[in-house]
Formats: sequence, structure tokens, C-alpha cells
Amino acid sequence: MNATTMAGVEPFELFAIRYGRHTGRRATDNFIGADPHEAGRNLEYFVWVARRSDKVFVIDTGFNATSAAERGRTMLRPPADGVRAVGIDPDQIDQVILTHLHYDHAGSLGAFPRAFFHAQDAETAYATGRCMCHPYLRHPYDVEDVVGFVRAVYASRVVFHDGFSELASGLTLHRVGGHAKGLQVVRVWTRRGFAVLASDATHYYDNFERGLPFPTVYDIGDMMEGFRTVRALADSPDHIIPGHDPRVMELYPPPSAELDGIAARLDVALRESRA
Ligand SMILES: [Zn+2]
Ligand SMILES: [Zn+2]
Repeated sequence: MNATTMAGVEPFELFAIRYGRHTGRRATDNFIGADPHEAGRNLEYFVWVARRSDKVFVIDTGFNATSAAERGRTMLRPPADGVRAVGIDPDQIDQVILTHLHYDHAGSLGAFPRAFFHAQDAETAYATGRCMCHPYLRHPYDVEDVVGFVRAVYASRVVFHDGFSELASGLTLHRVGGHAKGLQVVRVWTRRGFAVLASDATHYYDNFERGLPFPTVYDIGDMMEGFRTVRALADSPDHIIPGHDPRVMELYPPPSAELDGIAARLDVALRESRA
């Protein structure tokens, strides 16, 4: 579906909510093949909200305080508090999309007590299967989060997807894998065209623009193909929203002055050039 076929479809408002940070990273922590002398960059942590008159989707739930302490991450605010700050009550949310099950994306399911969680078949199988016997591959997962997710399965609160799904006119899921076996990205129709919440398909702008894979990876080939997929799904490179790049908060305006530094509007033009 392209922009010309979207006439009459109400666009979504799209928000990034920043809730955490990891400092002291080396360039080699962020890019396979980085020059070890290159300066490292912070990783920032986000959840996202897509909202229009008939639907609200929360995309990812962020990490919890226990994981933040164990892993030396700074929690700027509980992710659900950030969702509340943009005027959404987490208690009333019924649709949460989980891009994948890493601790920083699926770590506070309990903060959305009425939600159904949209996840890929492949991610569920990966996070509960043989690959988790390998410490390197299970490191980005937290067993308590995964167990909580399985409890949601048994409560009939998980909606499974296999590849492509349309959750609403103008909002679709696309499995890309790579970083995690069942990683999915979210394409969202906005008033500036189709934006793509890439999540960890590209942590930084540099990953897809320089073709540099991120070191947490299940399949490098799929990760590289994922860079092409997010480019193809987005109306322009400026419509791709990386999952962890601090520049997102600089490039996009806050929804209001009080939310400066907490949230950014992704459905409006960048306030400065990325060049
Ligand atoms: Zn991840
Ligand atoms: Zn992540």
C-alpha cells in the first residue's frame, strides 16, 4: 500500500517516549567493524505510541527497575509513566506491540494489565527454545520477562503473527529477524507519510546508513537485509526511527514544552536536518 491509496485513512499521531540511557559505551559495543579508536555513543531507550481517534497502540514496554539495576542502565522514568505523560492511561491500553522480547522491550508487561500483546511466532520460539541454552544469545533476554510473557500466552493475552500483519488500516507489522530471530518492525501511516518504527532493526541511524551491524545479533545476513526492508517500507530515510539513537530526541520536537526531553513527535517534520 502506498501513500496514494491511503486517501481518507486517518493518520496516526506517533510519539517516541524516552525512558532510559546507557553511557560509557565504546564504538565496538555499537558497531561490528567499528574503528576501536572511534568514540562510543550513548544508547537511549524508548517506547512508542501510535494514536488516532479509533485506536491506540503502545509499541514495546521497556525495561523494569530490576533489569536496570542488574545491567547498569539508567531508568529516567518508568516507561508506563512516560506513556501516561503523553496522555495515555496504561491501565486502559488494550493493544501492545512487542517488537521482540529483549529485556529492554518486553520488561514491564505488568504495567499494561488489560493489554493484548502482539508478537511474532518466531520470537516466541526463539526466546523459549534451544538458542537460549547459549549465554551469548540469551544475554539480552531476562528469564522473568520471558516467563511473564508465557503466562500471558496461557491467559490468552498474546496475539501471534507470522511475518506480515495489518493491525489497522495504516498500521502493519513486518518480521525482519536479524537482531533477534523474530524481531518485527512497525509501519505507521502519519500525516507526513509512512514512518517505520525500526526498533532494533537499526539501533542508530549509522547502522542502516553505513551498513554496520549491531553486535547483538542472531543472523547478520537477516540484519543487513533488514536495513533494506526498513528503507523500502519508509517513505524516506527520514521516516525511519532507529530504536536507540539519542538523535531522535534532538531531531523531533516535543509534543509540548513540558514534555521536552521526555517525548518527541515523530509524525511531524524533523526540526533540523540530519546532515
Ligand atoms: Zn533488542
Ligand atoms: Zn533494544
